[in-house]
Amino acid sequence: MLISNWPNAIAHVDADCFYASCEQLRRPDLKGQPICVLSSQDACVVAKTYDAKAAGITTGMPVWEARKLLPQANYLSADFRYYGLISDKLFAILRRYSPAIEEYSIDEGFMDMNGLRSLYRKPYQAIADEIRTTVRHEVGITVSVGISVTRTLAKMASEYNKPDGTTIVAGRRIHDFLKHVSVRDIPGIGGNRQALLNKFDIHTAADFADVPEREIKRLLGKAGTDLWHELNGTPIYKIETEARMPKSVARTASMGEVTQDKQTIHAHLLNHAMRLSKELITKRLTAGQLTVFLTLKSFDKQADTSDLPYPSADYFLLASEAGRALDTLYDPDQFYRACGLIAGDIAVRQSGSFDLFQMADQQREEKHLKLLETMHIINHKHGDNVIAICGAMQKRKAEGVMGRFAYPVLECS
Ligand SMILES: [Mg+2]
Repeated sequence: MLISNWPNAIAHVDADCFYASCEQLRRPDLKGQPICVLSSQDACVVAKTYDAKAAGITTGMPVWEARKLLPQANYLSADFRYYGLISDKLFAILRRYSPAIEEYSIDEGFMDMNGLRSLYRKPYQAIADEIRTTVRHEVGITVSVGISVTRTLAKMASEYNKPDGTTIVAGRRIHDFLKHVSVRDIPGIGGNRQALLNKFDIHTAADFADVPEREIKRLLGKAGTDLWHELNGTPIYKIETEARMPKSVARTASMGEVTQDKQTIHAHLLNHAMRLSKELITKRLTAGQLTVFLTLKSFDKQADTSDLPYPSADYFLLASEAGRALDTLYDPDQFYRACGLIAGDIAVRQSGSFDLFQMADQQREEKHLKLLETMHIINHKHGDNVIAICGAMQKRKAEGVMGRFAYPVLECS
């Protein structure tokens, strides 16, 4: 392997125990205590502190099993909207250092570092340390930073010295670094591939990088040779600065019956609108367009697509658009079996992106999102549909499924 030290420079910044750190941030009394953050419905562990991990708790473990291992840990429901706000702060800091950032997940990102040493007149080690310190002071959580010549090496480097560590792997130091990493810790090598590689006496990442390319191709195919090049210092994976966005988000279902009743269809659409809104809010996305479709008894589909007046995740707006489209599409002589909503023109939620004429819209949207968020949290804590919205209740009432507080809590405006 003969490459210069910095033919290319990529940083990987990864928050340490992100969800658990966010919880400690707003509840300082939990600092230094084991924490497990739970999935929706509190079914399983989605994140945990290092001490909970040391007790044998793994991500995805059912909560009852975790409680057996570590009854004294704090078990908290995940609050993704809050974690999203902390994530925004983290990425805002990273953007101060480099304009080319890939938000890889809520708590980790890749940064193009080329040219930054001369810009800041500092070596990469000092820039990475400064990023860590800035995040700790301004956000209140710790991150680990790895800088190397390819994405894969940068990611392995950030993982190498966790928590709150910096690892710099220049081109000429790659081989030494790889000797200390097991093939299991190469991103993309799972348990099965590890077992296969071990059979061929490939145990460390350095062994992997030293095997001839054609041998890796034989064992792991194209994905393997891509990794092999990355470990040998040739960038294959580029930094993608454009957010990876779903093209659309859909909520559809059969109604479980064939019906002519417009109110029933409307109630189904309102339920879809609620689930769609919840998904958009959680992922911090907005829709610019809404398609409403109805499936006839004959399985023919009818659809109505309209642009929303502004990018939104607001249930009330989605619900009123769905109602308007239903008025257009509905034919009392037809029978219907399914319906659904498709949100299109998806974008990342921007705060403060409304112009002067949209101020009222923005204030209404923010007020609604707060209400909806509170409703989701209460339903999350106390069981689904403790609180529901009046329109969507009608169907449940007819089915004999009632919330405990079945009054019209919220009204459309
Ligand atoms: Mg992380």
